Amino acid sequence: MSTPARSTSLTDLLLLGQGRDLASERGVSCTGELPEASDPDLISRARAARAALGDRALVLGHHYQRDEVIEFADVTGDSFKLAQAAAAQSNAEYIIFCGVHFMAESADILTSNKQKVILPDLAAGCSMADMATANQVTQCWKDLEEVGVADKTIPVTYMNSSAAIKSFTGEHGGTICTSSNAKKSMEWALSKGEKILFLPDQHLGRNTAVLSLGLTLDDCVLWNPWKPMGGLTPEEIRGAKVILWRGHCSVHGRFTLESVNEVRKQVPGVKVLVHPECQHEVVAAADVVGSTEMIIKTVEQSPAGSAWAIGTELNLVSRLAKAHPDKKIVFLDKTVCYCSTMNRIDLPHLVWAMESLVDGHVVNQISVAPEVAKYSKLALEQMLAL
Ligand code: SF4
Repeated sequence: MSTPARSTSLTDLLLLGQGRDLASERGVSCTGELPEASDPDLISRARAARAALGDRALVLGHHYQRDEVIEFADVTGDSFKLAQAAAAQSNAEYIIFCGVHFMAESADILTSNKQKVILPDLAAGCSMADMATANQVTQCWKDLEEVGVADKTIPVTYMNSSAAIKSFTGEHGGTICTSSNAKKSMEWALSKGEKILFLPDQHLGRNTAVLSLGLTLDDCVLWNPWKPMGGLTPEEIRGAKVILWRGHCSVHGRFTLESVNEVRKQVPGVKVLVHPECQHEVVAAADVVGSTEMIIKTVEQSPAGSAWAIGTELNLVSRLAKAHPDKKIVFLDKTVCYCSTMNRIDLPHLVWAMESLVDGHVVNQISVAPEVAKYSKLALEQMLAL
């Protein structure tokens, strides 16, 4: 596990943006002098630093990043595409990952020991990934052993998880999945065993099981890591095909069935296009469901004049609306819905990281411990081979 396990008391808690938690990789403040966001030279500084780094650096930008960051990305993509890009890149000395912590960990696992992965702001984590800790998952597996089903269960872990959970998955013969290949991964798992332990996003697991694999809601049970035996009876566990971890995305979980019904009334002919991390009732009521990459392609390939209500992160929806003025593109929620942790990476952090590298200082390196990387790599490579 790259983040050392430790107990946290109330006195340990830091105010957001102040201080630094030395026992964690996820510090909450920048370790150096950040340029002012109002610096009129910020863009020229970014261009100069990027040019000075040249082929020594590869800048990866997740689709949910701000426009000001995406502008400097060599490759943009969802977590799957960026994992592939990191794995394919053997020349760049630095991989500057404009995304969140778990993505940078995966990039570190998939690249060579000579390459360094940089996360411009260490506070860019993921609330979903934090919903499954190594201790909780280990306890869950012990419980499954006690019920006598562990040897028939294959873990399938969403990319949005810590390296420690990916390592658990590799060690127990499972695979990683993304929203692009969840169906394939779950089919593979069911060809190897009788049950799936799906971590940590209950919605992606449930939506894929029911809408893509033809299983029923009754085939799925929800494992609550805060309750003994996940809050389930041994019979419920034995009867389930899919054991869903009780985690969710705090961004996609906000979209509601009411918003779907409302937008259909407000926008004639609108098609509802959502990410599979949305709640099951939202996904079931949508016209098209797909990964971030699939959402982009669907809009790109749709005819002029078509109308779309999109349920995913707002930076991406705004960019799609700007890029397709001939189509009506609306956001499927009344309130602003950015991923706050993705948004931690801004141009000042990117400039600071790049200028530090130009000066020969490696900052905010994400480094996964070799014993964790070993099995995580196995699970990630299993995914890339599917
Ligand atoms: S959008 Fe959701 S799953 Fe993605 S990084 Fe943000 S909180 Fe995590």
